[in-house]
Amino acid sequence: MATRHNPSKPDGYDPIVLTRAAERTVVKGNQRKYARLSRPLRFYGGITSAQEVGCNLRCKFCFSDKPVRRPQSTGRFYSPQEVFEALTHGAKKNGHRLISASASEGTLGKKHLFELLTLVDQSDYIFVLETNGMTIGNDPSFAKELSQFKNLHVRVSIKGCTAHEYNQLTGADSRSYDLPYEALDYLMDAGVSCNVCLMISFSTAKTIDIAETRLSSIRPGLLKSLEKEHITLFPKVATRLNNENLSPKTIRHRGKIMQFNKENYYV
Ligand code: SF4
Repeated sequence: MATRHNPSKPDGYDPIVLTRAAERTVVKGNQRKYARLSRPLRFYGGITSAQEVGCNLRCKFCFSDKPVRRPQSTGRFYSPQEVFEALTHGAKKNGHRLISASASEGTLGKKHLFELLTLVDQSDYIFVLETNGMTIGNDPSFAKELSQFKNLHVRVSIKGCTAHEYNQLTGADSRSYDLPYEALDYLMDAGVSCNVCLMISFSTAKTIDIAETRLSSIRPGLLKSLEKEHITLFPKVATRLNNENLSPKTIRHRGKIMQFNKENYYV
């Protein structure tokens, strides 16, 4: 198991503090801000997804620009009922059984989320909760609360394969790298359907192995459903990475995974 990076002082922002700040902007009562309510995506063989606003990380490779970086001026507030109706209307039209909200952090605004999941539970649809695992890892009762919903699958995305990579990629305090692993442990203990997605574009074979060993130590089965994620180099992402002097080793380009070298870098 990877050791906890424990500098005497924080080496980045605290995602839990950022969670509260983001919620003040994107949550109002049982309403949450969305940029778009329903669009078909190709993941999982087809899913209808809403585009949420607001995140508690600032990943430098993030393709979701305004919803993450300008939550005040992006999107508008919707009730759980409005989101559910738009998602299921789109899913019916697209022939999808899966629905989700993506492009930001899915666990902001628990009241909104739980009311939405209650509606999903009364339907035949399955909701995929996309999360970076910060909030669930920080609060063991969160996974227990999620376990009451049966039409739910949680996808936990881990940003980098070590605490050092995570700190470089997100600017967050290295110590919070443990939180998504803790989230997985809590979710599995609570019997919530879940899987892991690991960002490996900036990793080496050695650090990928470290992360896989750590996941396996939580439950060996986590490796079976592990998704290895590669960035897509949209122009804004390329500019941001270039400004941060970060260069991916691999990228996803037209559905294929490609090695990347700096000569091809564009801004
Ligand atoms: S956690 Fe996801 S949505 Fe949030 S900044 Fe990172 S990649 Fe973007």
